[in-house]
Amino acid sequence: MRVAIIGAGMTGASAAHQLRQSGAEVVVFDKARGPGGRMTSKRVESLDAALPFYPLDFGAQYFTARHPLFVKALQGWLAQGVVQRWEFDPYVWQHGLLLPSHDGQSRYVSTPTMHQLVKTILGDTPLHLNCRITELSFSQSSFSSKHGGEWTLSSAEGASYPGFDAVVLTCPPAQCRQLLAEHPLALQIAPELLLPCWAVSLQLQSAVEHPADGIFVKEGPLSWCARQSAKPGRTGITEQWLLHFNAKTSLQLLEATPEELVALAQLEFSTIVGQKVEVSQSLCHRWLYASFNPAQPAPGLLTDKTQQLILAGDWSLGGRVENAYLAGQQAAAILLP
Ligand SMILES: Cc1cc2nc3c(=O)[nH]c(=O)nc-3n(C[C@H](O)[C@H](O)[C@H](O)COP(=O)(O)OP(=O)(O)OC[C@H]3O[C@@H](n4cnc5c(N)ncnc54)[C@H](O)[C@@H]3O)c2cc1C
Repeated sequence: MRVAIIGAGMTGASAAHQLRQSGAEVVVFDKARGPGGRMTSKRVESLDAALPFYPLDFGAQYFTARHPLFVKALQGWLAQGVVQRWEFDPYVWQHGLLLPSHDGQSRYVSTPTMHQLVKTILGDTPLHLNCRITELSFSQSSFSSKHGGEWTLSSAEGASYPGFDAVVLTCPPAQCRQLLAEHPLALQIAPELLLPCWAVSLQLQSAVEHPADGIFVKEGPLSWCARQSAKPGRTGITEQWLLHFNAKTSLQLLEATPEELVALAQLEFSTIVGQKVEVSQSLCHRWLYASFNPAQPAPGLLTDKTQQLILAGDWSLGGRVENAYLAGQQAAAILLP
């Protein structure tokens, strides 16, 4: 079986790995410059001349593991050294107070960046990067396919990739809908399954004196603040904080300028840590589709068995890295005999 996977995030990597282990031929396509999807890292300028740039996690900050299948995979990654436990006690900012909030939760990061885990899972899977798929067409007249039809993918660059027996689409739902055009599965995708998030990195002139390394923000425009140097395996990173705006504010500020966002982030963060922070460098990244909308039910994987077309993503099972991995495993299980 020859399978095209659109999206080199955790779902795509998980599906690719499982399918290849069972002997399928897999090709992965992604519009981005590298694999990782929402676990990606961006190159940030450093103040250290010896290390002019370093990668910083702008999307997923860590992951948790509950499902036995994911826990088993995690044990393998820990043994390989691609994942480490991030031991920190979170703080919570609420009612104008920053207080420790020990929750007993184990949190994990991939090292040296979050996207390294996706890269590792993909291994040597054939991967087309910088390749935005713009059209999917299914032809029933093919004699070459064992499944009564054949998929052809077309890219924005004008390339055509024919000869696939199955397609696994792992883009965020809105992008799946766009790609599916008139296909009946498009109608099954609920709107607003994923909410936006502005991520802002702040390189500070001096260290935050408060001992908090990760803060869940329950009031105001932010939702999360993390000292990036506190994560395991992040060498060379100095006093660099990554802040996420909450979904409501991100939606309101969707078109805000970096200057506006940084000013607001700096003000809020100074209030939270109780110290006026001075920013030497900053970078903003807008995620149009970031985290699962808790007001929506998780739709599960959407499948067209006749055409061997599967829509899977973290959103299928309720968001987060763990569910992306599980969705990839489920997609592979549907296709494998
Ligand atoms: C700001 C933020 C914070 C988060 N924090 C956490 C956290 O702390 N813990 C946690 O567990 N999870 C967190 N998440 C969620 C986590 O990152 C996701 O659940 C997970 O990475 C989703 O993986 P995925 O493969 O399903 O989707 P994605 O990672 O979105 O992968 C989809 C891929 O499809 C590609 N693509 C889209 N359209 C096309 C096209 N037309 N052609 C080719 N390629 C295409 C994209 O480039 C992308 O690489 C966070 C996410 C964000 C954005």
